Amino acid sequence: MTSQQAALGALKRYFGYDSFRPGQQGIVESLLEGQDVLGVMPTGAGKSVCYQVPAALLPGITIVVSPLISLMRDQVDALNDLGLTAAFVNATQTPDEQSMVLAQVAAGQVRLLYVAPERLETGRFRDFAVRTPISLIAVDEAHCVSQWGQDFRSSYLGIGGFIASLPTRPTIGAFTATATERVRQDIITILGLRNPTVTVTGFDRPNLYFDVVKLESKYKAAWIARYVADHEDESGIIYCATRKETEALAAALNQMGHPAVAYHGGMSPEVREQAQRDFITDRVPVVVATNAFGMGIDKSNVRFVIHHNMPESIEAYYQEAGRAGRDGEPSRCTLLWNESDIVTRRRLLDTDYENERLTPEEQEIVRQSKRRLLDGMVGYCRTTDCLHRYMTRYFGQELEDSFDRTDHAVGGDAHCGDADRDTGGDRGAAPHKCGACSNCESTFETIDVTRVARAISRCVHDVNQRVGSGKIVKILRGSKAQDLAWLNPEQMPTFGMLKDVNEARIRDVLSQMATDGFLFIAEGRLPIVMFGKRAAETAAADFHYEIKRVERRSVAAGSSAGAKRNRLHGGASVISADALAGSALGLYVPDDDEEALFQKLRDLRRTIAQEIGKPPYIVFSDKTLRDMARIKPVTNAQFLAVNGVGQHKLDLYGQRFMQTVALFNAGNMQ
Ligand code: ADP
Repeated sequence: MTSQQAALGALKRYFGYDSFRPGQQGIVESLLEGQDVLGVMPTGAGKSVCYQVPAALLPGITIVVSPLISLMRDQVDALNDLGLTAAFVNATQTPDEQSMVLAQVAAGQVRLLYVAPERLETGRFRDFAVRTPISLIAVDEAHCVSQWGQDFRSSYLGIGGFIASLPTRPTIGAFTATATERVRQDIITILGLRNPTVTVTGFDRPNLYFDVVKLESKYKAAWIARYVADHEDESGIIYCATRKETEALAAALNQMGHPAVAYHGGMSPEVREQAQRDFITDRVPVVVATNAFGMGIDKSNVRFVIHHNMPESIEAYYQEAGRAGRDGEPSRCTLLWNESDIVTRRRLLDTDYENERLTPEEQEIVRQSKRRLLDGMVGYCRTTDCLHRYMTRYFGQELEDSFDRTDHAVGGDAHCGDADRDTGGDRGAAPHKCGACSNCESTFETIDVTRVARAISRCVHDVNQRVGSGKIVKILRGSKAQDLAWLNPEQMPTFGMLKDVNEARIRDVLSQMATDGFLFIAEGRLPIVMFGKRAAETAAADFHYEIKRVERRSVAAGSSAGAKRNRLHGGASVISADALAGSALGLYVPDDDEEALFQKLRDLRRTIAQEIGKPPYIVFSDKTLRDMARIKPVTNAQFLAVNGVGQHKLDLYGQRFMQTVALFNAGNMQ
């Protein structure tokens, strides 16, 4: 049997999948042949399978290095449920328990052993490791090794030394969802990968609907509450920028009768763990969290991720938003933002001295690179281009296959992490409808605001950079307000210059000018408007300035197919009938019958999960249940044909699920 056949066989037998996803097969085969790999795939793309399949086939054990011990139990449970023996050793166990696990592993009873990086440095573990045949070391979240990444962990630096201390060097597979070139280089060098096969795949996630909503801060909570109310039976994550916000929002949701838990780094470990568990086991559908939540979270049925604020980079956003829809089912990622989010982020960036070990020059380099990352994020909020396309371009890929092929003229020349990287977005604005993002469902109006921008800039000059935006707007509108009297505004050339422009428009232009660097809003008690680095450009003869405004969102006008798709997608009324007709996503819309069966199967899954004390998704994912509702299996062979069902799951749960299907069929025939 070739390694290819063996790999496919194991994929089917343990995981119940018929084929590998893009990139997986190459990685699996390389690892089986003893070749190091670096796998860069977005969250949810299927990195774990890349080392779990080889682990099932290789002669020695596979050690999985993972940073989050709180998740190991779930990961190990899930593997054992698939019939792939796995165990973990970590600090939550007593020394006796740890010894017992290591003895089991040494006796060949376990294929995969999960450990945190700190463990590799202990004497006991090193003793064990030199005596035990290790075929593969899989380093999960490998970007933690790099100081350039956002999640640097010094314990990752010891992994290379551990590998070097082994009598026989195992094959090394490193996996990450962080795509910047610099981080990739660090992973290769610091872990000491030997001539690795580098695979970067699938940064597009077609089952995710991307949605960007510009919203004043004061409306955000109400927007979220409404969304949660409309999607009561769905599981979702809401990311907030601060701990206080997570608690306030969770409390508000609970008060309105929508169960939600808060999660942030300031909570005690017990409370935090309980919150995580409540969410993972579907006891509470919604978690309101800071970005401390989620690294390694493997809850496959998260149907929506809402960002209450704009994150610091596309990398961070994609990782967090990517926690939606890991089972491949339609899910929604919504980013709520406004200009003040951008100002806050910029301010944080300039006052952030977390890298105290760096020299001032190095700090400035880091800051500059962070500014560039932020620009990419701001670009995402502002673009009118397809959001899927923006995202994949950012990661250096062009969309293919399910997307309109006519607009692929732009070459894949955007290198991730390059100092002069294009920040994605608006290039080659050929018409393009993905059917899975709010931009492709909206029409935009581009408004030429050159005159307004020039007037604002002159007014800042007239007042000598001494006042805030409110007063500037008043002067430009020719206000006679008393609080302006001390400035003698009537004497100013710009007084009343924008009488004909409404206040909201002037404010919009002003804040966009601030984020674009034409103006600078000073920090401190009084947010005074000053000139930004690019201020001089506004006086140039060829200066041209535009703002974009969402003009209209197309609405699925009451078609029943539309309603279904809306429900699947997380419900907003922005999904057009056109998008339904074009199967850009290749989505499957179930009929009522299937939906009813799906609910019954879900109930059974919940019952079983409670019986075995594990999260429901460990029994079966939503995707598997949907496929089951479609196939309606009543024989073993039919059951095995369901996506995500392997032999072990058939043995464990087949009978009960088939019974439910049979009962359902019988009920339907009466
Ligand atoms: P990652 O580690 O990259 O975030 P996972 O390995 O957790 O992603 O995979 C995400 C989901 O996709 C899991 O539910 C997994 O079982 C499923 N999956 C992985 N590979 C395949 C495949 N070849 N076919 C179908 N589903 C897959």
